[in-house]
Amino acid sequence: MNANLSTHDSEYKGFIDLRSDTVTHPTPEMRRAMAEAEVGDDVYGDDPTVNKLEAMAAEMLGKEAAVYVPSGTMANVAATMSYVRRGDEVIVGSRSHMYLNEQGAMAALCQAQAMPIVENPDGTLPLEAIEAAIRESDEHHPITRLVCIENTQNVCGGQPLSAAYTEAVGALARKHGLRFHIDGARIFNAAVALNVSAAELARPADSIMFCISKGLCAPVGSVLCGDREFITQARRARKILGGSMRQAGIIAAAGVVALASMIERLENDHENARRLAQGLANIDGIVITPPNVRTNMVYFELAPSVPYTAGELAEKLKGRGVLVGPVGPRRFRAVLHYWVSPAQVDRAVEVFADSLRQQA
Ligand SMILES: *Cc1c(COP(=O)(O)O)cnc(C)c1O
Repeated sequence: MNANLSTHDSEYKGFIDLRSDTVTHPTPEMRRAMAEAEVGDDVYGDDPTVNKLEAMAAEMLGKEAAVYVPSGTMANVAATMSYVRRGDEVIVGSRSHMYLNEQGAMAALCQAQAMPIVENPDGTLPLEAIEAAIRESDEHHPITRLVCIENTQNVCGGQPLSAAYTEAVGALARKHGLRFHIDGARIFNAAVALNVSAAELARPADSIMFCISKGLCAPVGSVLCGDREFITQARRARKILGGSMRQAGIIAAAGVVALASMIERLENDHENARRLAQGLANIDGIVITPPNVRTNMVYFELAPSVPYTAGELAEKLKGRGVLVGPVGPRRFRAVLHYWVSPAQVDRAVEVFADSLRQQA
């Protein structure tokens, strides 16, 4: 085995990579499981490893069934396609992945239109705003069909949305006859942060998707969960989107390992995120915002006194072995994950402090 991959502390390709948890590569245990995975043609339902991943996912999310798809984007699009008819309206967060980062798939592929709602700072959509956005029956209006929330809410700071909030959205959806989907790309981060099960967070929703390719460290894919009838529709959507795979057990095997062994340890990433936030907060010129770091993300800004843009500073940091993503002219996002150790967090803080000191 490559020694470089065998230790959790290793710096991947020499960098401390804080750009995203999507940069995680598979653990040694995952690589072994992938090499030895039993496979079959998944379009025929013959891949035992995919079937196992789907069964585990359905059980852990408290749903009847699940379907493995190549990406989180496809999971959200397949879910939306399964619910909407041409011209329907979908209530969604104005800072959500589904609204901002899927190339307008709701319109382009699902023939539906988005009704964006501005989030509260804690990542929730105000319940009154959701209710106010639901269309009355009138031949002029589109039909409101679906409401979507994102948990954790990435752009609002990786905020976990509580079971009580999710329950309230579910009650609203039922009251108005809407379907309810959760973009739970990082639902296990939310579950660990809130100390509840993912099933509890998913219970009020008709469907939920989560990514195995982010903090859970598997290389490829997401799983969409819901009742059997919905999953039958979602499988059709996956097919037309070109996402039905054959011997996908090779990659699903890493997901099985992820669900069995990578969830509880997400708490380490959350702890490292707080460690990073505390370290950065002590540096003149860095402001953590939002200040409450709840999961594996830290967003921060450069004070007006700093004579560089985020892009310029990112270049300097890269030269010193730290990768971090600018998300605005003076704003950064750092994401903690399996391949970043506490010592590397401390090292990253040092590099930030040095780089800003040199500028003065
Ligand atoms: C990453 C992400 C997705 C999409 O997943 P991909 O696999 O990158 O397509 C969807 N929603 C949220 C909140 C995400 O963070």
